[in-house]
Amino acid sequence: MTELATPNAYEALSDEELRARVTALEAEAADIRARGLSLDMARGKPSAEQTALSRPMLDLVSSTTPLEDDGAVVDNYGTPDGLPSARRLAAQILGVSPDNVVVAGSSSLNLMHDLVCRAFTNGVAGQKPFWRQGEVKWLCPSPGYDRHFRITEDLGITNVAIPLRADGPDMDKVQELVEGDPAVKGIWCVPKYANPTGITYSDEVVRRFAALRPAAPDFRVYWDNAYAVHAFGDTDDRLLNIFDALAQESAGSLVYEFGSTAKVTFPSSGIAFVAADDHDMAEIRAAFAVERVSAEKFSQLAHARFLKDLDGVRAHMAKHAAVVRPRFELVERKLTEGLGGLGVAEWSHPHGGYFVSFEGRPGSARRTVALMADLGVKLTPAGATWPSGKDPRDTNIRIAPTYPTLDDLAAALDVFVVAVKLVAARLVLEARA
Ligand code: PMP
Repeated sequence: MTELATPNAYEALSDEELRARVTALEAEAADIRARGLSLDMARGKPSAEQTALSRPMLDLVSSTTPLEDDGAVVDNYGTPDGLPSARRLAAQILGVSPDNVVVAGSSSLNLMHDLVCRAFTNGVAGQKPFWRQGEVKWLCPSPGYDRHFRITEDLGITNVAIPLRADGPDMDKVQELVEGDPAVKGIWCVPKYANPTGITYSDEVVRRFAALRPAAPDFRVYWDNAYAVHAFGDTDDRLLNIFDALAQESAGSLVYEFGSTAKVTFPSSGIAFVAADDHDMAEIRAAFAVERVSAEKFSQLAHARFLKDLDGVRAHMAKHAAVVRPRFELVERKLTEGLGGLGVAEWSHPHGGYFVSFEGRPGSARRTVALMADLGVKLTPAGATWPSGKDPRDTNIRIAPTYPTLDDLAAALDVFVVAVKLVAARLVLEARA
């Protein structure tokens, strides 16, 4: 989505027509400003209606609940890999064997951070720790998830932006860097309903990941399958199972896969999990054994009882979809009605996940987000979807439609349409000056 397919309609206007259009849009903006709105389209989190869906889970663990799970004790230390029923559930969500999953804590981001830090301090697969290896590089398909990029940036790792296409990262580039440069130690991936573009990696891309022969033996793919079960449309994108693809290859350890129920049950109070092959799993277990005796288990018990298995998860996610889908449909309708055919923007049309990714004209994103703030609507900061917050063409804006009410979302999108048009028209006017 880097080059817009339709010509910019404002370019076709005469200077006089263009000035008149800018004046009209400025008047619309002034009217909006006078309304003193306070709306928010920045937060990638479920609405209250969605979190309410999981409230019955809170009744499943009480003072009279047997605190035992397939022979495992819930109310004391033990089972450091997680409760058996929670591991089975996580394994079904990720499509792996329960033997290759650890369920721990409430945040998958926390697990990712743990493993990058562990690689930094202790090393991976018997290699020297990153801190003793000089420059370490990490590939960041962009636009991507800002919190991923922050983990590696925070450790002084060099984040390298990689183009993200409709079917996944640019695999020629990934292969060239991973196989050619031993300083490249990792890549951030959201393979299904990516944050923010909503794309799902094609089978071909997944197979090319599995076929990578990294120059660094301590290179790992951080496969963050955060939106594995988060379809809201008629179709659920199909993601080839990376471990199945790896089984076709005779390669060594390559992938850590992550997931959580943050957006299934409760953000910050879900269960989080990591999967890997036998060798990596042994290393991860050893690392976690230093950090803790065993992780929190009441939440694991409640989740396993509430969601039960993959069918249970799917039935629950269908309820989320019923809440989420009208919001995404509203985004599509408002943007099409307001901006369709103008040649000033394109946006993604995801079948699942939490975001719509918006691409404006070069040099427009920061100005649009700033104007939106001025008009009373908060958006994710422009640039946030790129490493170090620097979107090289300043085009990408992440729209998060789930949290606001439908009325607030409609109002925010109306403002957005005016802001995008005004910035686009001003850019053309300025270019002519
Ligand atoms: N990964 C991705 C791709 C996300 O979008 C999010 C939430 N925004 C997370 C991880 C965070 O998950 P958790 O709450 O389990 O840390």
